[in-house]
Amino acid sequence: MLTRNSTETKNLAKKIAGGVLKSGPRRSGATILALQGDLGSGKTTFTQGFARSLGIKSRVISPTFLIFRKYNLKGKDFKNLFHVDLYRIKGIEELDALGFGDILKDKGNIVLIEWAEKIRKFLPRYAECVYFKHKKNKSERDILVT
Ligand code: ADP
Ligand code: MG
Repeated sequence: MLTRNSTETKNLAKKIAGGVLKSGPRRSGATILALQGDLGSGKTTFTQGFARSLGIKSRVISPTFLIFRKYNLKGKDFKNLFHVDLYRIKGIEELDALGFGDILKDKGNIVLIEWAEKIRKFLPRYAECVYFKHKKNKSERDILVT
């Protein structure tokens, strides 16, 4: 899917969020979106659109320095949205220490992971992948959802 600006990327994220809400929680395990692609390719922008459509009003900024942020989802089948950014992590141990394993186990969680390629081996196979690519045109992105 080609998006021509950040609004289109957010709108795509909203559509996907709608699908996630409609399907509801999995029988076990968090609902996971593994966002992959270069710096500036739109992963945070996508997350902002996704969060907004779940009714999160606060500004969603990149949790680069915190590794993850948690947003409560009131009145939804899901309890929390986690926004994870692995840009700076060195190893999986860092995440374990933060309780990441438990976050992934809880079916009440939706977990969006930027730079998920860094921990592909540790993510459940069912995780959905979203690939982001720059195009020649400065404001175009190719976004592939699998
Ligand atoms: P990442 O999190 O992948 O590093 P960001 O979402 O933080 O990327 O940054 C993407 C930047 O590119 C933003 O400044 C955004 O406004 C801009 N941009 C331009 N065109 C698009 C597009 N089609 N989709 C998403 N972002 C775009
Ligand atoms: Mg980002």
